[in-house]
Amino acid sequence: MAIISTEGIVLRSIDLRETSKIAFFYTRSHGKVKGVLKGIRKDPRKFHTSLDKLSVNDIVYYQYRNSDVHLISQCDMKEYFPDVRLDIRRITAGEYACELVNKIMPVEQKNEAVYELLLDYCAALGRARDVGRLVHLFQIKVLALSGFQPHIDSCVQCGGGLQGREKFSTYKGGLVCPRCQRKDMALMSVSPGTIASLVYAGKHPWAQCLKLVLPLSVKRELRQVLNNFLIYHLERNIKSAKYLE
Ligand SMILES: [Zn+2]
Repeated sequence: MAIISTEGIVLRSIDLRETSKIAFFYTRSHGKVKGVLKGIRKDPRKFHTSLDKLSVNDIVYYQYRNSDVHLISQCDMKEYFPDVRLDIRRITAGEYACELVNKIMPVEQKNEAVYELLLDYCAALGRARDVGRLVHLFQIKVLALSGFQPHIDSCVQCGGGLQGREKFSTYKGGLVCPRCQRKDMALMSVSPGTIASLVYAGKHPWAQCLKLVLPLSVKRELRQVLNNFLIYHLERNIKSAKYLE
């Protein structure tokens, strides 16, 4: 049994019996970690945290070898992102990010880039005018950083270069060139602007992505492509997605 000291963002928490809670954190040093906070409901002062989603906490936990639920001995909140909690659109966009990271990231595998992305997203969400745009950028980045991204730099079927008449197949997970398109494939039309945005945001650092302008038509296509892709490839729905826009 090791004692781990790290910082983690709360993705979710659930009640455990009358007195305790189980919390899912995305941690800087160990990726997604599940831990029990014994007695937190009986005596909230035992831990200095509310366990609200997206709050950043310094945590210390006992890492058990034979269980994926570890014992949290300390949990001190250090960042709350109060601006994110001011209106329902920001709150929903925050909850969506928590749910997506919780579903897409494997248990206890370090991915510091995803941790930093979640922090950057929370900071940007508090001041963003266009919340929907931010959600799309987050989706693209988290897919790229987790190795799940759609295949958009060539034809997913034959590997041929793009010529501008490709369509998107959710089932194939990428773009299909005109030669490989079949009548029985469910294909979505995507404009070159949408493809360029996906490529750009997948490759560039977050700060540069924030400068990317997404016209309404591109946002509409991104919503369709990304939401369908995520549902299909995660094999489950992201519940909070239906409350976005
Ligand atoms: Zn092809």
